[in-house]
Amino acid sequence: MSKIATQCVQGGYTPKNGEPRQIPIIQSTTFKYDTSEDMGLLFDLKASGYFYTRLQNPTNDLVAAKICELEGGTAAVLTSSGQAANFFSIFNICSAGDHVVASSAIYGGTFNLFGVTMKRMGIDFTFVRPDATDDEIHAAFRPNTKALFGETIANPALDILDIERFANIAHANGVPLIVDNTFPTPINCRPFEWGADIVTHATTKYMDGHGTCVGGAIVDSGNFCWDDHADKYPGLTTPDASYHGITYTKQFGQAGAFITKCVAQLMRDFGCIPSPHNSFLLNLGLESLHVRMPRHCENAQAVAEFLEKHPKVAWVNFCGLPSNRYYALAQKYLPNGSCGVISFGLKGGRVAAEEFMKHLQVAIIATHVADAHSCILHPANATHRQLSDDELRACGVGPDLIRLSVGIEDVADILADVENALTFVK
Ligand SMILES: *Cc1c(COP(=O)(O)O)cnc(C)c1O
Repeated sequence: MSKIATQCVQGGYTPKNGEPRQIPIIQSTTFKYDTSEDMGLLFDLKASGYFYTRLQNPTNDLVAAKICELEGGTAAVLTSSGQAANFFSIFNICSAGDHVVASSAIYGGTFNLFGVTMKRMGIDFTFVRPDATDDEIHAAFRPNTKALFGETIANPALDILDIERFANIAHANGVPLIVDNTFPTPINCRPFEWGADIVTHATTKYMDGHGTCVGGAIVDSGNFCWDDHADKYPGLTTPDASYHGITYTKQFGQAGAFITKCVAQLMRDFGCIPSPHNSFLLNLGLESLHVRMPRHCENAQAVAEFLEKHPKVAWVNFCGLPSNRYYALAQKYLPNGSCGVISFGLKGGRVAAEEFMKHLQVAIIATHVADAHSCILHPANATHRQLSDDELRACGVGPDLIRLSVGIEDVADILADVENALTFVK
């Protein structure tokens, strides 16, 4: 198998004689067949092929195949957003009356999706701290628990998930571990190597890398044996009445059942597909992912070290600093670097943060992260604006917290920008 840098450039698509070198954009909603019988086989899932882009599209599939290779999985699907990827990853194996255990250190959008919106669908979530003890996590499981969920590097708290420990706990309880691997990307961490069963991504972030397209992906390791827990996962292990009585694990095997069901049922009914043009742009991002990630990490490391030494800085949270409480875990799971996102606070608190941000020129103020451009956000003044200072502290995003997503500009310019802005702060 080729190395990950080669997979970034060439994975998922090998053109045949005379075919386009670049992944073609198949900008067509529909596909033509000679006979109704030909098309009937596709609708019965008896032949593979394309009929309607809401279910599958060749451009989307080629890019999904590349991400599948990068993660070392057996099957993958692209979604219209990271939110859709996380929703499908759970809803594919849960129905009303089911329960999921999730790390509390996850993206705010995911936290709300799980704790509010999916709760309204009758799926219950119990949140556990990523640093909870094994006993505490085991105690959160119930007979109707169908999955354990976490984020490799939490956005924006930057906690590191002990993937191997969480995988062992999930498997001891007979459920898969689902990991949102958005921040490290497979360049810096491949959760399947540590026992995770399903990986999700907001491709919107580093994979796209240029702030052009919202998108997501779900990858299956093919390692979780649904048939061993057949009573828990009837959707995968018993006939699907909405698909001519197909049993996914029988027809597509352990390696293909989860993603096939996700496409055949959830894409069919919810339609959260990316446009083929967006997938094409995502692929351009993937082609340089292995070059960009090390630069993000290197630049972030330099900025974190600079901030930690600065007299006006109160604290810095970045797992590449030996002083960080997740440094040891990061050395295990992220030996080549974590990502470009840092959070920090100034001694002058909220007021100083506001002043500091007025004077930045290289880092732009944006809600986005994980982009080639350095971006900065003061959540207390933006995403978390409705919360009081006490509420902010309670959710781990204090009024002084500044989130800096370090880009791939020249690090000397980024450092000079930060240093200059700090001179305006009391
Ligand atoms: C941004 C993000 C999401 C949501 O992705 P969208 O593409 O914005 O829907 C999910 N998980 C993590 C870790 C993220 O950073």
